[in-house]
Amino acid sequence: MRTISLHDTRTGEIRALEPREPGRVGIYACGPTVYGRIHVGNARPFVVFSLLARFLEHEGYDVTFVANITDVNDKIYAAAGAAGVGSEQLAREMSDAYIADTDGLGLGRPDSEPLASETMPPIISLIEELVNDGHAYAVDGDVYFSVRSYPDYGELSHRNIDDMDQGEGVEGAERKRDPLDFALWKAQKPGEDTAWDSPWGRGRPGWHIECSAMAEQLLGVDFEIHGGGTDLIFPHHENEAAQTRAARGEPLARLWVHNGMVRLDSDKMSKSVGNIFVLRDALESYGRDALIMYFCSGHYRQPVEFDDERLEQAAAGVQRIREAARRLQPGPSPAWSPPLRERFFAALADDFNTPAALAAAFEWVRDANRAGDAVGGADLREMLGVFALDNLLDVQQAEAPDEIRALVAAREVARGGRDFAEADRIRGELKARGWEVRDGPDGPELLALP
Ligand SMILES: [Zn+2]
Repeated sequence: MRTISLHDTRTGEIRALEPREPGRVGIYACGPTVYGRIHVGNARPFVVFSLLARFLEHEGYDVTFVANITDVNDKIYAAAGAAGVGSEQLAREMSDAYIADTDGLGLGRPDSEPLASETMPPIISLIEELVNDGHAYAVDGDVYFSVRSYPDYGELSHRNIDDMDQGEGVEGAERKRDPLDFALWKAQKPGEDTAWDSPWGRGRPGWHIECSAMAEQLLGVDFEIHGGGTDLIFPHHENEAAQTRAARGEPLARLWVHNGMVRLDSDKMSKSVGNIFVLRDALESYGRDALIMYFCSGHYRQPVEFDDERLEQAAAGVQRIREAARRLQPGPSPAWSPPLRERFFAALADDFNTPAALAAAFEWVRDANRAGDAVGGADLREMLGVFALDNLLDVQQAEAPDEIRALVAAREVARGGRDFAEADRIRGELKARGWEVRDGPDGPELLALP
């Protein structure tokens, strides 16, 4: 087995993955709070940790990938109130929408997708433990974590304890013993239409304790990889880490892995791209292949811009592989292939460097194009399979001549830019030349008209 290393936020180092049990890895990635359709930025952790799980499975690990759905949260009460619907109904509708939208990425589902609303008994017993141990206190139906009772607080985000703001505003300020403390349980307030019974009265959990309890339920403590966006390092993950360590005496996770944000740069962005930041619309405009390629073309730790240029580059990369696929044949790859294959997987083993891996895959494509006709595609299929892009090799472009395939590529660019009039015009031109283009889940397919 290759040694696999990942950047760990807690230590600030690239560290080797060392499972509790050889060959088994648990991954918990914080999922969305379901109060609206998710956007491309929310999709990034889903893609990064789904692909990381695929890679680890390729390397022979037995992976349990958990991505929760936060369906009890202040944002949901606020959005439901504004929309005039019940918060439970809104959370259910938006959970369904999240599942449908992420299904469109074609990466399969995580092994577990726990809901906070279905994890109340473990959440409540974890809070009870913290109260019993003196790490938390109840006041008027609320329960707060006592930050100064936990000496290692700040170990994850490396912030100075006096520079920390829990982001809870004035809420509960007069009940907290210390402004640093954060809520574990909140008494039901007027306008909140969901609540659960607890030893402290009716109410609902704070966001951070939900994740500590869900992760422990499914993966135990001291599990291998805890993930999420860099925006969650503080306070969310700092608090998850503190609660679990304080209650259990063991760390929640071994490696804390964070993905960079997706940035919208209004200067570099056409209006159309701004409109398709919602995942569902981005999938419709670019297709899942180009979106997965877009995510893989950036290192997971770096922020990535969401703009026309990058999406068009991704679409062109997809097209390049599809075109090369026409000349590949099934079966083992030639002697020049293994070093590139090795470079691909070594890049992923070194802090999951997907752009370096992709570069090796594209070099493979270039060498195959140079080599001419009878190149066996097995190695490329194996590489692309880790990114769930091996479908690109299955597309039958029939025996379309170059100018027809160029029209298909131009139509993809037009569709990507939401220029549907131009896309329709090209479709008409293709038809006039005897070809029908169909937009399948794996991209456009060409059919020769009888
Ligand atoms: Zn979380």
